[in-house]
Amino acid sequence: MNGGKQRRIQQALFMNGHTSNILESMVGVGDMVLLDPLTEEACINNVKRRFYAEDIYTYIGQVVVSVNPYKKVPLFSPGTIQTYRGRNLYELPPHIYAIADDAYRSMRDRNRDQCVIITGESGAGKTEASKIVMQYVAAVCGKGEEVDRVKEQLLQSNPVLEAFGNAKTLRNDNSSRFGKYMDIEFDFKGDPIGGVITNYLLEKSRVVRQTEGERNFHIFYQLLQGAPQSLLNKLRLSGTCEKYGYLNQSHCVAVDTIDDAAHFQVTENAMRVIGFTETEIQQVFEVVTAVLKLGNADFESYISFNGTEACSLTDEHSIEEVCKMIQCDHEQLKQALTNRTMDICITGLSERVVSTLSSGQAVYARDAVCKAMYSRLFSWLVGRINDSIKVRTRGKKKVMGVLDIYGFEVFEDNNFEQFVINYCNEKLQQIFIELTLKEEQDEYVQEGIEWSHIDYFNNSVICQLIEKKNTGILAILDEECLIGGNASDHSFLNKLNEVCIRHEHYESRKKKSCRSDKTLPYDCFRLRHYAGSVTYNVQGFLDKNNDLLFRGLSQTMFSCDHQLVKKLFPDGNPRRQTKKRPPTAGTQFKNSVAELMKNLLAKNPNYIRCIKPNDVKSPNLFDDSVVRHQVRYLGLMENMRVRRAGYAYRQPYDQCLQRYKMLCPNTWPNWLGHPREGLQALLTHLRVKPTEYAKGRTKLFIRNPRTLFDLEERRRD
Ligand code: ATP
Ligand code: MG
Repeated sequence: MNGGKQRRIQQALFMNGHTSNILESMVGVGDMVLLDPLTEEACINNVKRRFYAEDIYTYIGQVVVSVNPYKKVPLFSPGTIQTYRGRNLYELPPHIYAIADDAYRSMRDRNRDQCVIITGESGAGKTEASKIVMQYVAAVCGKGEEVDRVKEQLLQSNPVLEAFGNAKTLRNDNSSRFGKYMDIEFDFKGDPIGGVITNYLLEKSRVVRQTEGERNFHIFYQLLQGAPQSLLNKLRLSGTCEKYGYLNQSHCVAVDTIDDAAHFQVTENAMRVIGFTETEIQQVFEVVTAVLKLGNADFESYISFNGTEACSLTDEHSIEEVCKMIQCDHEQLKQALTNRTMDICITGLSERVVSTLSSGQAVYARDAVCKAMYSRLFSWLVGRINDSIKVRTRGKKKVMGVLDIYGFEVFEDNNFEQFVINYCNEKLQQIFIELTLKEEQDEYVQEGIEWSHIDYFNNSVICQLIEKKNTGILAILDEECLIGGNASDHSFLNKLNEVCIRHEHYESRKKKSCRSDKTLPYDCFRLRHYAGSVTYNVQGFLDKNNDLLFRGLSQTMFSCDHQLVKKLFPDGNPRRQTKKRPPTAGTQFKNSVAELMKNLLAKNPNYIRCIKPNDVKSPNLFDDSVVRHQVRYLGLMENMRVRRAGYAYRQPYDQCLQRYKMLCPNTWPNWLGHPREGLQALLTHLRVKPTEYAKGRTKLFIRNPRTLFDLEERRRD
């Protein structure tokens, strides 16, 4: 199809009589359901053309596909917000504002709770999109002192969570290292009255280790570069990042695109707006500092008098400052870092055994307590923000949820983290397909059109492989963790091979069909996810799933007089100690994902699918192969096929007749009967085959985009 024709159709589809400057650069099709032919190539080309024209949004039905422009584009302004306000989805060019508006109005006026689900890989623009949604809603909902206060607190939760939960990675200078779901709650008028944030799986290993060229969480650099001298003095911090082991190992401190000092002000200010007290802010920074300094504690091994390996602090004074700050007994912390206390049950009698740690084990213990301290601080921050933004009034609430969560991950080396993240994406895909199909089906039912079954891949078989009670991968992993003793990552893989080998989505070298597959190493298993195959290395699975902190360390932390530190380690309270194991990391994640799904399923979903145009953060490059991967992982083709399996295009009778009445002498210039009959007369006159369209209660449905393009073409001739 030539550019001119496409452009005209675009305008026909989206202008509906309105003219607007933002329309002038429109290229390609604005709704990919209308692509003809409907191929992956056509989809990629369409998004590419639009990307180069700065039209970064494209629809698939009601789904927004968003391509990261990697530059400022003139699509966001108070004026544009006003343009989209109260307009119907197809009246204007595709935009996040349009679905945010649709969702907001549907929540406010029709009492339907909404959620906006944003997915895509790292750097694709999810967090930016979630902020655009929030800003839009904040701009269009009510005003007033109290409402403005709530809005401000909700918006200010972003910089706080970003400071503590985001980091520079190779893929994204501001990468969210946690998943986030935020419910914004409104009163009956549609004014915001509060919210609830849920966080998922912070990547806590980053606290102690970062890949070359990546950084630790932003807050460490912000504090060192941006805190006033008085605070640095109080915390006894020197201000240079290179001094700290947790910051200097990856050889990346300064980042061109990040002004850490300025961000410190933003973070601190946001904490104040949210309602943190000065004492709380001070305590938060003390915990951050404690992590940083504890990370510098080093150990040297020696052989103890009974011949076992033991270790001591290289510098006795190295933890003194930390102890002073978090009000911890120096001797107790030293002991907890270099020894391990266990209760061993021998013939029914419990006996306490103390064993010494090697320097390697002590480093492991040190890192474990730092990771625990930081990740618990992060969860505490989320809880503290929730306390501030919690709805205090009674009465019925309306809710709009925004989910900004990690997309499907396939790296060269995939571990436990990728496994659970991809599991979460399987679940999201499951509800996506279910809900998209359901929505289609509902509309057909509502319109009284015969529903024909749509064939699609149902990924619940993969979800089952992972989550099934007793025989799912997570259950097998838990079982292996429970055994303790001889269990290892290796024995876990053996068990998997026993139980899952016949599953069509599970592969390992033990499987007949994979025996000679050199791309599948012996210590790995591979899952055939809906989005493609991923090979997981089992190394570290048990450890990460167990997520255990030596009890001596949690007890030491609980014994601190520092209020916040004490709060972070309730499991260290000797009086609350139970023999019961806390749920494993995998089980916790599975439960929180189940909760999330329940929550999302209770709402009307709106989707934003984010795409990264290239791997080098460039505004001028659209890399087809990089995008092709994402089109697959996001299941966009599936989405288009489902959406188009029935009818590609639908429009209310009156609007449709208005547009095409000139094509038939019976309907031109005016048709006095029902628009439905008018359209029938028109279609008969044009000899459009009856199999090509269906007449619903209020809308005409057109099966094939070609038919629509044909009508458009005739209209122009
Ligand atoms: P991650 O999964 O790593 O958190 P993400 O999908 O949340 O990634 P963002 O942090 O939203 O990605 O976006 C990455 C960067 O891309 C932003 O910091 C910004 O520089 C740029 N970017 C994203 N969306 C836009 C936009 N709409 N306009 C301009 N720049 C954008
Ligand atoms: Mg993000």
